[in-house]
Amino acid sequence: MKQIFLLAFLCLARLAAFATDPILVRSNFKATPQDAEIRTLVENLAFLQVIDQEKATELAPFVEKKRAKSLKIIDLVSPNVSLTHLENALTYLNGAEKEAVLYLQKTPKTEWATRRSELVLQGDLIRFYQGFWAELTRLYRLHPRFTSEIAVLDDREIQGFAYDQKQVFLTFDDGPTRFTQPVCNLLKENNIRANFFVLGKNVRENPALFTALTQSGNEISLHSETHANLAKMHDFKALQAEVVAPLTLVREKYNCQIDYFRAPYGSRDLAALGLIMDTYKKHILWNIDSQDWQAGFTKEVMLERVTRLVHLYHGGIVLFHDSRQKVVDVLPELIDHLKASGYRFETGF
Ligand SMILES: [Zn+2]
Repeated sequence: MKQIFLLAFLCLARLAAFATDPILVRSNFKATPQDAEIRTLVENLAFLQVIDQEKATELAPFVEKKRAKSLKIIDLVSPNVSLTHLENALTYLNGAEKEAVLYLQKTPKTEWATRRSELVLQGDLIRFYQGFWAELTRLYRLHPRFTSEIAVLDDREIQGFAYDQKQVFLTFDDGPTRFTQPVCNLLKENNIRANFFVLGKNVRENPALFTALTQSGNEISLHSETHANLAKMHDFKALQAEVVAPLTLVREKYNCQIDYFRAPYGSRDLAALGLIMDTYKKHILWNIDSQDWQAGFTKEVMLERVTRLVHLYHGGIVLFHDSRQKVVDVLPELIDHLKASGYRFETGF
């Protein structure tokens, strides 16, 4: 009985650890390449303000890593921002966004990062990054080695942080489902491609949906046979059934060329990763989780969250699931916004 309670507690704790409050913060920045660069500065200043306050010593290495990343991005985009663009942005911004742009305007460009403590931001922008930081640090504490946004175990594992030149990779997991074709239709209308990480089980159960996907011109990758947690599997035959069997299926039956794999939940240990690396060219993780699986994350919340994080990281790999209507619903506005902001959509990692 005790054990059942403990198990229930651990399961709840695990779920709670991944749940995040849906924070809806609309940005007033315009979707133009110039505004996008200013926005990237503002997002990073806000994020830095939150992580600069972090006192927990066990998080110090993680804070350092995140801080270095933000400082690098500030360096990267600063040369692209002109005083005229800042002046122009001030005419329609308000709140924390306006405060941050006023700071950029009065501070020499080379000191934007170093003098950041002079800028104190408040309101929803900071609330968003406090929530985001809480989410990242919960992941870090729970899975310091194995969670996708936290660490890589091999240089053929790709997280997305390296894509900071305005490349966006849209990725859709867990299909094919009845939502796969609507997603493909939207991508086609927008003349872009994405990457679909399919489950062997779903391919077997929905051959017509998978055939349509193979004819859509998108990149197809694999996401295991049944969505098992690979880090918890200790039987090599069972691991092969998850990692190798779906590849054999789509190669032999559909003649697909497959380069990439993504472990369910991003969860893998060295044994699982070894098999993944023996079987595929790269293991693809992500750095921008839409959290579309969360009930409270409406289309609006996801749109704001994903655009904000794309601007923060200046590009990256976005995780969606083509198994929900709201994912179909969010795509047109998201794609419009990112295109108008000067982002390019890519599929080859
Ligand atoms: Zn999945």
